[in-house]
Amino acid sequence: MTVSGETKIYGILGDPVQHSLSPVMQNAAFTALGLDAVYVPFHVVPNDLEDAVAGLKALQVQGVNVTVPHKEMVCAFMDRLDNEAALIGAVNTVVREGSEFVGYNTDGLGLVDSLKADLNIDVCRKNVMVLGAGGAARSAIVALARQGVRKLTIANRTVDRAQQLVERYQPSFPNVDFLVSSLTCEALTTVVSGTDLIVNSTSLGLSGESFNVLPWHVVGRQCYIYDMIYSAQGTPLVLAARERGYRCCDGLGMLIAQGEAAFRLWTGKDPGRAMAQALR
Ligand code: NDP
Repeated sequence: MTVSGETKIYGILGDPVQHSLSPVMQNAAFTALGLDAVYVPFHVVPNDLEDAVAGLKALQVQGVNVTVPHKEMVCAFMDRLDNEAALIGAVNTVVREGSEFVGYNTDGLGLVDSLKADLNIDVCRKNVMVLGAGGAARSAIVALARQGVRKLTIANRTVDRAQQLVERYQPSFPNVDFLVSSLTCEALTTVVSGTDLIVNSTSLGLSGESFNVLPWHVVGRQCYIYDMIYSAQGTPLVLAARERGYRCCDGLGMLIAQGEAAFRLWTGKDPGRAMAQALR
């Protein structure tokens, strides 16, 4: 890769950011397509986020991804939000459009693509349970509701946050039957039977802690398990599901698909299999 005065600059804002796989996959795609562009990690602490966005704009940076913990706060510093990002209330992709920075969210699309590609599941009319009520849960809920799920149970450690999401999204998706649960084995025992797909969008398991909240004895054999966390060794949830014979996968496919969608927004080009090949 040669950087010249013509090279377009992209990147990712996060805290921490050094473990992000996005530079590897985005640079692989720029190289594969022969584009004169480079993607760099920017470590930005929350107090510096507004200054960082203003600086990126002044420096003619063409676009960035946004990761933990900035996805929600960065909305306030956009010139405009795409409708989907506004509904989700979080941005993971910023695109320079003329003199404006426009906020998009490609996480939900990444999840739906990965569900199809990695688990071969079409969620239309299905009974789905989302574990978690944070930013990733919101992108999942909007994407799943758009796909026409029949019933959507939101189970969260802090039940109030799950309830707030139902109040936020029920008016936009009147055909979806929303339900709330706390994230304990006892509570899930009463609501999990008949579920076709469980999506983990909590951070539980991220640091290797055991995933001990699912009452496996009432999870039907037909149920698919999707963990947004990813790990080459297998996340605690994926290992537990696999051991019991459930069809399951981790969030690597979602990471790749959200990155491919961001790349298409920035360049108007399809990255093909470049990102998947760089990571898998
Ligand atoms: P947030 O901080 O916004 O939300 C975290 C969620 O996890 C909350 O619902 C929180 O519950 C719950 N939680 C945290 N710790 C525990 C615990 N010990 N036990 C039970 N619940 C817990 O994070 P995000 O929504 O942005 O991200 C969540 C996860 O999704 C992360 O692991 C992230 O890596 C992953 N992710 C993966 C993506 C991919 O492309 N594969 C994309 C985006 C996210 P409470 O409300 O009670 O605090």
